[in-house]
Amino acid sequence: MKCPYCEADESRVIDTTHDAQGGIRRRRECKQCGRRFSTYERVLRATPLVVKANGDREAFDREKLIRGIQISCGKRPIPAADIKALVDRIETHLQQLGRDEVSSRVIGDMVIEGLKALDPIAYIRYAIVYLGLDNLTSVRNIIDGLLAEQGTTPSRGGGTPPAEGAAPGGPGAASA
Ligand SMILES: [Zn+2]
Repeated sequence: MKCPYCEADESRVIDTTHDAQGGIRRRRECKQCGRRFSTYERVLRATPLVVKANGDREAFDREKLIRGIQISCGKRPIPAADIKALVDRIETHLQQLGRDEVSSRVIGDMVIEGLKALDPIAYIRYAIVYLGLDNLTSVRNIIDGLLAEQGTTPSRGGGTPPAEGAAPGGPGAASA
């Protein structure tokens, strides 16, 4: 580490501290001019390159991903902070994979799962574009799937259709 004052290469570490972010700060003293300075070390996590469906590779672009999600979320009551948090989760996940490259589908799938939890309309809009849905039947399938999932959510309370045939007084039910 070069001394910032005299550019000598030799310095002595006089103190080392670790911070909460996992970084290491070293207080140093130049062996030549005797002046003190600090250095800071931290782990740099790289985000893998994104491999698109057509085989092109491009750098992960956070802002572009946020813009794409915002388009699906237009006029919906979704706080900007929630979109940012979703993109943060995706970026962290990609970094934790520790790979050089990742398919753009991994990102799209995570966006779609995230939007499903945030807002059904935004989810459907994104799904139409991302999955390339080009007819009403496939859009309806997405909506049906979503409704089915919501119907089985305990918090909704309403949907208990399977229980009916198994009611106590149903003797003839099995003889179909
Ligand atoms: Zn120096």
